[in-house]
Amino acid sequence: MKIAIIGAGFTGLSAAYQLSKQGHKVTIFEKDPGPGGLAIGFQEKAWDWTFEKHYHHWFTNDKFILGLAKEIGHKVLIKRPNSSIYVDGSIFKFDSPQEVLRFPKLSLSERIRMAAVVGAIRYNPLWKPLEKINASTFLPKAMGEKAYKMIWEPQFINKFGKSANDVSLAWLWARIAKRTPSLAYPEGGFLAFANHLVKAIEEKGGKVVFNAEIIEVKDDKQVTITYTSKNKKRSESFDKSIFTLSSFLFLKMAPQLPESYKKKFQRLKNLGATNLVLRLKQPFLKNNTYWLSICDTLAPVMVIAEHTNFMDKKHYNNEHLVYLGNYYETDNPRYLMTKEEKLKLFDPFLKKINPNYKKYLIGTELFQAPFAQPVIPTNYSKMIPAMKTPLKHVYLANMQQVYPWDRGTNYAVELGQKVAALIQGENS
Ligand SMILES: Cc1cc2nc3c(=O)[nH]c(=O)nc-3n(C[C@H](O)[C@H](O)[C@H](O)COP(=O)(O)OP(=O)(O)OC[C@H]3O[C@@H](n4cnc5c(N)ncnc54)[C@H](O)[C@@H]3O)c2cc1C
Repeated sequence: MKIAIIGAGFTGLSAAYQLSKQGHKVTIFEKDPGPGGLAIGFQEKAWDWTFEKHYHHWFTNDKFILGLAKEIGHKVLIKRPNSSIYVDGSIFKFDSPQEVLRFPKLSLSERIRMAAVVGAIRYNPLWKPLEKINASTFLPKAMGEKAYKMIWEPQFINKFGKSANDVSLAWLWARIAKRTPSLAYPEGGFLAFANHLVKAIEEKGGKVVFNAEIIEVKDDKQVTITYTSKNKKRSESFDKSIFTLSSFLFLKMAPQLPESYKKKFQRLKNLGATNLVLRLKQPFLKNNTYWLSICDTLAPVMVIAEHTNFMDKKHYNNEHLVYLGNYYETDNPRYLMTKEEKLKLFDPFLKKINPNYKKYLIGTELFQAPFAQPVIPTNYSKMIPAMKTPLKHVYLANMQQVYPWDRGTNYAVELGQKVAALIQGENS
């Protein structure tokens, strides 16, 4: 079959790799100049490695993407970086049960109660009953108001904003249960890995067209994709197509979709992400900390991730690279700020953590992604869009279908494999 895949993120790349292996004639259309989607990277001239626009790592149990890396022969590095939390103006290491039990801002009984609840969530084998439970209702009752308000509520508010009280306990379960103390990272960065995958797809006869933005899809005896490339409008017909971009974009480009189908998507919510990257001559965080969760709703930053406390700075011409990450609704004025406005807003807070950072600042970069994180409310399993759409030759495979696990490149690879199997199954 001749198959079009829309999007060269990890879902599209994974589906293309599988379908090319099965002998199909696959073309990926990608609006960006390179592969990787949300995990795409960039490379300064003096750097040996690419660096993601948004912080990325894998857990050591991310079996789908680690399996794919092994299959195409891409080397993966495994390290155990430090994680901490910022509470009441101080930083506390918080990446093992021992650290949690030592956390000094809560009494011993409060700590034990919190650790017991987190442990019970983590080791609970059944996520389904948890999806009926609202995390913001359950957690204060289970672990106590003080621990919830100090550590957990600020993280929910900083991440989900107005939707913080809608999130289900199944989402938190997935976040806690999946976490591994050691993390993995592809040699050369995620862009290098995505480029390797493109090469593997091409070796199997597939084609990837960059700078090709799909504007319309029409379904008849075949599916016809209309796209713009090099300022020209082009159309091409295929036997099947897979859309891996956001559902909201998909609905806009498929005029034949019935209103009843479109209506189902109104319940789905999504957040955008921004990362302001600091390029520094000195480390920003102390104690080699990679990940710092900000448990303070007044702070303008949700997470500080110092990448070069995870991967060696030698790959980036000895620069220290720090992400200042946030999620926002895309109409939030903070989502739309320039990098200068963001740095001005963040500066007083950043100085509380490292008063001298500006002396070592080489430069900043700002990255935005409008479709970055689906909001997972209670009973999400009933809202998940199907891979098959009302259009006979058109399939949908995107982040909103990743559940109960939180979206990630590992699940993008799994999703790509699933949609490829669905198409292959229907064809045989
Ligand atoms: C801030 C942040 C941190 C993250 N951290 C991690 C992490 O640590 N580890 C991890 O594994 N995952 C992480 N993720 C999640 C991960 O990036 C995503 O789950 C994964 O990349 C999704 O892949 P995808 O292919 O489904 O979607 P996408 O990556 O969104 O791919 C969709 C593709 O479609 C393309 N496209 C859109 N419109 C068009 C059009 N009209 N025509 C053609 N192409 C189009 C886009 O350019 C994009 O390349 C993070 C995400 C964010 C935002």
